[in-house]
Amino acid sequence: MQRVLVIDKNKKALMPCHPARAKELLDAGKAAVFRRFPFTIILKERAGGDTQPVALKIDPGSKTTGLALVADFKSGKRVIWAAELTHRGQVIRDALLSRRQQRRFRRQRHTRYRPARFLNRAKPKGWLAPSLKSHLDNIWTWVVRLAWRCPMTSLSQELVRFDTQLMQDAEILGVEYQQGELQGYEVREYLLEKWGRKCAYCGIENVPLEIEHIIPRTRGGSHRVTNLSLACHDCNQKKGTQTAAEFGHPDVQAKAKQPLKDSAAVNATRWALFNRLKLTGLPVEIGTGGRTKFNRFGQGYPKAHWIDAACVGESGGAVKLSMTHVPLLIKATGRQRRLMRLPDKHGFPRTQAKISSRAYGFKTGDMVKAIVPAGKYAVTHVGRVAIRNRPSFGLNGFDVHPKFLKTLHHSDGYSY
Ligand SMILES: [Zn+2]
Repeated sequence: MQRVLVIDKNKKALMPCHPARAKELLDAGKAAVFRRFPFTIILKERAGGDTQPVALKIDPGSKTTGLALVADFKSGKRVIWAAELTHRGQVIRDALLSRRQQRRFRRQRHTRYRPARFLNRAKPKGWLAPSLKSHLDNIWTWVVRLAWRCPMTSLSQELVRFDTQLMQDAEILGVEYQQGELQGYEVREYLLEKWGRKCAYCGIENVPLEIEHIIPRTRGGSHRVTNLSLACHDCNQKKGTQTAAEFGHPDVQAKAKQPLKDSAAVNATRWALFNRLKLTGLPVEIGTGGRTKFNRFGQGYPKAHWIDAACVGESGGAVKLSMTHVPLLIKATGRQRRLMRLPDKHGFPRTQAKISSRAYGFKTGDMVKAIVPAGKYAVTHVGRVAIRNRPSFGLNGFDVHPKFLKTLHHSDGYSY
């Protein structure tokens, strides 16, 4: 059950409470709704209270990041709040690409030929591509938002896909793969990275891959990492007891012997996030992707971003959670455009100069409730408002006068 975040009258975090308890407090007038997303109540009279340690656990993903608040109760660790944060990396990439193309076209129309300048822009150390920087900033925003709404005492983050140190040993000393062991999960993640998440033989992607012995076990092949590759079920069956070379793939045999370069295991965004998290001053636990999977399989949980987050690190080995828990779905939307006028596909202005996105105390993107008492659209709408030809705003495809609107949640760069 998703707990309700609670702050006291001085806006200090208290222990998140059960929704039924929150309703009691709200009905009795002892509390008021502070924010709808994430649902937070503020107590009107109380200041201070008992808290238990709460960890924020983060599983950063390329499209979606899992977030989980795990409380350390006497009865054990339990997920009390979870969210899945969808990033907008591709949107940013597309927007920058279209801006670049329009500028290039404009330059070609207006400027006679000058040779291209290149390599004259310095990138500061630690520079991240704008799409990746937005991932980082999204996660940081939510760390900060949660940090003062719950008694957070530690952070956990999945930092790398697999244990690099262990895999170096694996290449040199010959660590063996063991099904079901933590080490086995680390090896599996390593192989996924090494073989590019596809079948080493036919190159098929997005199918279940099996760990496969390049020299089969029946022919004296070992469980060592240098004798392992990934194959789809069909290729694995077809290969049977042949070696990779006999199966017509001597390249696989050669590639298996080359150790994976360090850079492949290092993800710049995740490291940048780790360095940011350290700024909170809270202890930051780090985990590997192999460990997350090991913890999740060990406890028999299905795959979901928020569950992965709960399973991050050593502390994720024993975490109770409810399968019926519904996480908060958060989507990064950005706040508004900086463009003054929308261009057509050639880069010429297509619309009038933009009007202010604020009017009558509302802002484009605010979540509002409209109660229209009479007339053709005499209904109740809930949605995000668009400031348009005043005084009539767009809401779910209708035009609504602001006098019928009540703000539920101010636009904050995310939709829920
Ligand atoms: Zn295959």
